[in-house]
Amino acid sequence: MSPNTETVVEFSLSLIGQWPEPMLLMDGERFIEANPAAVRLLGYGDKSALVGRTPDQISPPIQPDGASSAAKARQFFREARQGSPRRFEWVYLDAGGREVDVDTTLSPIRQGEQDIVLCAWHDISWLKRSQEALVQRNLELLQFAHVAAHDLQTPLRTISLFTQLLHQEAMGHLNEQARQWSALVVEGSRRMQSLVEDLLSCARLDGQPTSFAPVDLHQVLEDARANLSWRISETGAEVLWEELPLVMGNQSQLVQVFQNLIENGIKYNTSSAPRITVSARPDGDDWVIGVADNGIGIAPAHRGEIFEMFRRLHTQQEYQGTGIGLAICQRIVERHGGRIWVEAGETGGSVFRMALPGAGARGLSAR
Ligand code: ADP
Repeated sequence: MSPNTETVVEFSLSLIGQWPEPMLLMDGERFIEANPAAVRLLGYGDKSALVGRTPDQISPPIQPDGASSAAKARQFFREARQGSPRRFEWVYLDAGGREVDVDTTLSPIRQGEQDIVLCAWHDISWLKRSQEALVQRNLELLQFAHVAAHDLQTPLRTISLFTQLLHQEAMGHLNEQARQWSALVVEGSRRMQSLVEDLLSCARLDGQPTSFAPVDLHQVLEDARANLSWRISETGAEVLWEELPLVMGNQSQLVQVFQNLIENGIKYNTSSAPRITVSARPDGDDWVIGVADNGIGIAPAHRGEIFEMFRRLHTQQEYQGTGIGLAICQRIVERHGGRIWVEAGETGGSVFRMALPGAGARGLSAR
């Protein structure tokens, strides 16, 4: 003979009554029992404030995802009764009207005709509050970085310009030692200017919502090459590409990625004829784009760390830079749902590869 519902409830009651975490029993969408931990969590004097009520009667009318508490509670209860335990986050209101976030698990206990559902709560209010505080803090930091970098730009430009003029003017009147100091001041202000510019583009990136649309990588490369035209003609570099696809992306952010990679391919290069080749191959719904150079290459041990912010493998005397370019590339590619990494080139140099989501059409365009 199977025990009747009353026996099950009695047994369950004595079990959950001792349980240190909040536990309740539900029947017909209402709470029929609540243990002391549940009563304590919501700050009620005793369980009568919970027993006999439906979850939405002690919740805000709307849950954080915009769904109605009453409809959602009914749906979860129905699903749990159909046999599968259901786990979800829920917001209740405590006796003082404050929101309490709980991680809830509903487990069915089938008993003859009657279905009882065991409801276990885990208080995650502190987790939610710290998450919110972190998001807020992150926003403030972003704003701070943006404002600091932006406001530093104007005085830095002035300092940079006038130190250069001063340096040129005073050259003839200075002794050797003073000339060296003056050159150091000019160099320092120039570096500070490029650091602030790079930090600003990084901060801008984090503050911007990104809109995605099909982008012709071919146009992206034309733009990147045009932006680097001075650097390309100064070094006699060649920038070539094969057939390139349409990807889902943000045009101006992708221009920035290719610009950074091509500029690095030219900079970290001792060849008399720097050459950058861009290629593409399909990989499922994605495209893997390669940017290959015939430069100095990157030792395997350093291939992961170069994407970290401010990470550089060379001194300013060897190659000038801020160590921000590849970190920006990684952020942009990851915002596109993609991945970036670097490999050794087949005949020397490096190949930076990016997996980017395709724009549906499989066709390649060549120009
Ligand atoms: P930056 O060039 O301003 O130093 P990046 O973030 O663009 O900063 O690059 C980080 C480091 O990675 C560089 O300092 C350099 O040591 C290395 N690196 C980047 N691109 C290449 C490349 N194409 N070939 C060799 N080394 C590279």
